Amino acid sequence: MKLSDEKLLHTQAYINGAWVDGDDESTFDVLNPATGELIASVADMGASETKKAIESAQEAMVGWRAKTAKERANIMQAWFKLIMENQQDLAMMMTIEQGKPLAEAMGEVVYGASFVEWFAEEAKRLYGDVIPAHGPDKRVVVLKQPIGVIGAITPWNFPLAMITRKVAPALAVGCTAVVKPAEDTPLTALALAELAERAGIPKGVLNIVPCNKANAVAVGGELTSNPTVRKISFTGSTPVGKLLMKQCADQVKKVSLELGGNAPFIVFDDADLDAAVAGAIASKYRNAGQTCVCANRIFVQAGVYDAFAEKLAEAVKSFKVGLGTDDGVTQGPLINQAALNKVQELVDDAKAKGANVLCGGSPHEMGGTFYQPTILTNVTTDMRVASEEIFGPVAPLYKFESEEEVIVEANNTPFGLAAYFYARDIGRVWRVSEGLEYGIVGINEGIISTEAAPFGGVKESGIGREGSKYGVEDFVEVKYLCMGGV
Ligand code: ADP
Repeated sequence: MKLSDEKLLHTQAYINGAWVDGDDESTFDVLNPATGELIASVADMGASETKKAIESAQEAMVGWRAKTAKERANIMQAWFKLIMENQQDLAMMMTIEQGKPLAEAMGEVVYGASFVEWFAEEAKRLYGDVIPAHGPDKRVVVLKQPIGVIGAITPWNFPLAMITRKVAPALAVGCTAVVKPAEDTPLTALALAELAERAGIPKGVLNIVPCNKANAVAVGGELTSNPTVRKISFTGSTPVGKLLMKQCADQVKKVSLELGGNAPFIVFDDADLDAAVAGAIASKYRNAGQTCVCANRIFVQAGVYDAFAEKLAEAVKSFKVGLGTDDGVTQGPLINQAALNKVQELVDDAKAKGANVLCGGSPHEMGGTFYQPTILTNVTTDMRVASEEIFGPVAPLYKFESEEEVIVEANNTPFGLAAYFYARDIGRVWRVSEGLEYGIVGINEGIISTEAAPFGGVKESGIGREGSKYGVEDFVEVKYLCMGGV
């Protein structure tokens, strides 16, 4: 991997400000999903190393929370600037370990860094409250205090932003953190820690404990059972989120969960079709369809169904599939073979039940884990694509007749993260916005992520909100002071 600053490439864990191997010095391999090549062997952490990281986070919290908000903010601003100064290297590292096109990786660095900047600013505005008291000799004051050491477990689809979205608000309010990055993408996480150290984030405030898939159970077990950890923030699959929530129940540990989705993308007869196609492309195919807010079910009203399908197919045919590092590539590989197999199974199931393949439908001729950008038409709700998260570049199109019918169908899922719709009638815009049971609704818009807005889901898509002024609330405890005898 060619980096302009080779010191960003770390293969050891970062615990208490030191780069360390695991107790038994074992490692796990990180592969380039586009080529299958070995990129690095990374130190494999287990429960005992995680315990050490938690202890160091606890010690570090004494000094970190005692700093003024402005002092913490200044250090975080330095971290933000360093992330941006190293945008090119971080993006390259991300593309090589994760596969996304370099332009998308460059965008993720900006997005990820934006949380550090945002929460550095928010740190200074963590206001408490003075409440009119219930007696003349009393005063009622509300403090917001850092919740404690937090454990963060993050996925591979956004190797940088999913870490900063959790760690930045935590650090801003005076918490310290132990992060377990996804086994596919530990290098970006470790590079972030290198930059945090350069920015002056004190030792123990941010710890990174990489591990392989098998050890995730042990590391997750320690994070959820160690009483020093007061909160778990997780982004990943719904089954693992439920498991972690159960594990946290024993100590009534707080959780923030950002889990799977089954996003509806609805195109009404009165939509601007070109805008809807652009939005569908952005929402569906970004990161090769591997985001939790990717359009998973595209509902198109009967009057515009054929025209929309034709325009979408035309746009999809112009995609360039290839190595994320090659110029002009718009779609990289899927993360691994299991992901490719799952996508193919879903497409085969849909075909067997009567769906038509408008384009794609098979692994890409590049081989490996590349998959053809795909559009399925004539899709019905009995097919697996209707209820399972596809996590691949496959757009299933469903035909619908009425607004009432499509709202019911869009909500007919245990998930509730993101939804999208395209319409111009103002009454319809309100009715549909209010009727969709989702945490996020994109209206005539396919890209909804920004650090300034609350991101999160309802139902089985999760608990809590990340980003925005709401994002700090998950990392503080409210303490009520009742002062008598005034
Ligand atoms: P995905 O399907 O996106 O890989 P996962 O939920 O399996 O989603 O992974 C998200 C994160 O959760 C990764 O960091 C992974 O290592 C971690 N993880 C998976 N299983 C467990 C577990 N039993 N305990 C703790 N973390 C886990």
